[in-house]
Amino acid sequence: MIELGGRRRKRTKIIRVKPKIPKTFECPRCGKVSISISIKDGIAKISCGNCGLYTEVDVPPVFDEANAYSKFIDLYLEGKLQIKERTEEITEEENETEGESEEVHIR
Ligand SMILES: [Zn+2]
Repeated sequence: MIELGGRRRKRTKIIRVKPKIPKTFECPRCGKVSISISIKDGIAKISCGNCGLYTEVDVPPVFDEANAYSKFIDLYLEGKLQIKERTEEITEEENETEGESEEVHIR
């Protein structure tokens, strides 16, 4: 039996600060490392800050940006991707900024 109580619980708090992984990847079209990926609701939004490539890829919830990127590359090379050009005008209808759930532990 494990003796409970009586002793002060040791409070060892280990806070692991996740190293910020750069979330930029190489663009298969222009070759610049300017692809940024954001995953939300099972959809990875992939856009290139250099040439304006933009696309969306369905990803399982376990995917992170790197996984999404490799899937994107696969699809891109197979020619199965619908590449949308990011246009100059950005529609300002995006009012879904709530619920950004990134796993960041800052204390
Ligand atoms: Zn590009």
